[in-house]
Amino acid sequence: MQDRFNRHINYMRISVTDRCNLRCFYCRGVKDFVFIPHEEILSYEEILYLARLALRSGIDRFRLTGGEPLLRKGLSSLISGILAFPGVKDISLTTNGILLEEYLEELKAAGLRRLNVSLDTLDRKKFQQITGVDALERVLKGLRKAQQAGFDPIKVNVVLLRGVNDGEDVERFLALAFELPVHVRFIELMDFSPVGGYFVPATEVIERIQKKYRLEEVDIPGSGPARRHFRIAGMKGSFGFIAPLSHHFCGSCNRLRLTADGKLRTCLFSEKTVDLKKMLRAGAGEEEILETITGALAEKPGSWQESGTGKNRNGLRSIGG
Ligand code: SAM
Repeated sequence: MQDRFNRHINYMRISVTDRCNLRCFYCRGVKDFVFIPHEEILSYEEILYLARLALRSGIDRFRLTGGEPLLRKGLSSLISGILAFPGVKDISLTTNGILLEEYLEELKAAGLRRLNVSLDTLDRKKFQQITGVDALERVLKGLRKAQQAGFDPIKVNVVLLRGVNDGEDVERFLALAFELPVHVRFIELMDFSPVGGYFVPATEVIERIQKKYRLEEVDIPGSGPARRHFRIAGMKGSFGFIAPLSHHFCGSCNRLRLTADGKLRTCLFSEKTVDLKKMLRAGAGEEEILETITGALAEKPGSWQESGTGKNRNGLRSIGG
């Protein structure tokens, strides 16, 4: 599927829930978070139906996210269901890792191999301060077990937070990439939450690391928006930066998003969505829904700045990370 900027749109991020078992202050910022009512959440059958239609329109890579996707019972059945469609090239999961150890066998049996684990610190106390939950050990255990079980690539996503983890944590994550063949990505904080003043530009961290280490630029296949990946001699893994604000990569955006309540979103920053669930539940036919998908794509913004305010105050979890 090409959009009007000739971008090849082949990737759909599907949020399977808006529930989460963490309370990250920069995501769950708003106190009275309004959950999507259960009956409004897409069933697995509806997700599979829409994924199959997305495949027909040229999408061949999927990512499951949330909220916390592993909170949704039977997720592996959705994974094997999507993988069973002819033409699916790739499926991956973005998780906070708390339930990873528990579901690892099932996920592997379902055919999942690619994992993104979100982790903002390697310090136990700080983990609790950021997320509200004392669960660092569980996440690290799940990460290590996934690596031993042959999941690959495993990416570790670290949202940079001024004064919280932009100091010694950076060194500790580099050490993790020495110890394990994981790809650490330092991510700039996006403006989806009411907390302000935590933004750290990726360039600041790169420059600090460059002062201390000799970096070798490496190409990590499928590294998505983290264009630039580096290795320091002796590293088993690598590290990179995702800088949606200071170096946005909208020019090569290849994705559409399906929210947990069935809305198609062509840009993370735009509030403009089309309600595919409403069409589906009203009995719309495949061709009609396909036309709606291509119609929405025709209006996909060229860049996040074009998307208007888009200041979703409900945090990224209500859209799907
Ligand atoms: N629960 C899963 C997880 O933690 O990976 C998937 C959903 S979560 C919303 C996906 C990612 O979005 C996490 O890495 C989280 O840190 C990140 N995130 C949440 N709010 C963000 C923001 N304002 N800017 C950048 N990343 C954000």
